[in-house]
Amino acid sequence: MGKSAVIFNEIFLKHDLPSHPENATRLHALLKTLPSFNIPVQDSKPVDMELLKLAHEEQYIREIEKRCQGFEGHLDPDTYYNEHSYYAALMAAGAVEKAVNLCFKENYNCVLCAVRPPGHHAERGRSMGFCIFNNVVVGALHALTSGFKKVFIIDFDAHHGNGTQHILADNPHVFYFSSHQYPFYPGTGSENENNEHIYNAPLSSGAGDKEIKQVYGEILPALINKFQPEILLVSAGFDLHEDDPLTNLKVTDEGVKFILETLVMTAREKTMPIIFTLEGGYNLQALERCGEIMFRLM
Ligand SMILES: [Zn+2]
Repeated sequence: MGKSAVIFNEIFLKHDLPSHPENATRLHALLKTLPSFNIPVQDSKPVDMELLKLAHEEQYIREIEKRCQGFEGHLDPDTYYNEHSYYAALMAAGAVEKAVNLCFKENYNCVLCAVRPPGHHAERGRSMGFCIFNNVVVGALHALTSGFKKVFIIDFDAHHGNGTQHILADNPHVFYFSSHQYPFYPGTGSENENNEHIYNAPLSSGAGDKEIKQVYGEILPALINKFQPEILLVSAGFDLHEDDPLTNLKVTDEGVKFILETLVMTAREKTMPIIFTLEGGYNLQALERCGEIMFRLM
């Protein structure tokens, strides 16, 4: 066991629209069992602007800032904003930046960024699918500039992380691995998009623990062994759970545990840090149980 932490700030609860599935109750649910564990909670910080500009167009960042100034509405049909959303999004990306620093400078080996808004659908110049800034991309780019030579991203959210794959498409130092329901929103993530540093494992509607065990027990370890990363970043989307109202995968608590255990053990065996960042997951009871599974492993 090594050093672990959860990164959280109250601002993640203020970007909120109670009638929307991606609302603040999700974080309460994820963190509900945390007090029973001896895991320190650390504060976030706003992302470094120069770092954010490596992931997103400056014009897009300014547009988000401007639109959130005391107003509320929608950035796109799926993604709402209020007066707190710009700062919440800066702090969400900043959480992953900070997690990388904890791992690089202070030898932390397992960090969970309990953040909202999520990030993996956000493109370089466009919000999408409840996401404003791409938190995991910011983390990957910061890891590379900090001195980690190769970064491996694992995205187990039920939706394909189109933004992550696209923004990092030309970066051979980052491997992007995603399992997701397909065909499904956002439409990307077919096997035809795979190359030396992108691997999509599309899952049919109804796929469950059996498929997950094959993907995470057999395919993923081989890819990690081949790529030889120095850090693992995980887009942890718990909407792959069978109880999720937005998706059609049938992964049980057991399947989620299998994924998390495999990832944490792989990182431990190879003595590299692992950082989880929250993406989707819209059933509150399932989120609470997934949080507990996660904290037991940290
Ligand atoms: Zn999702």
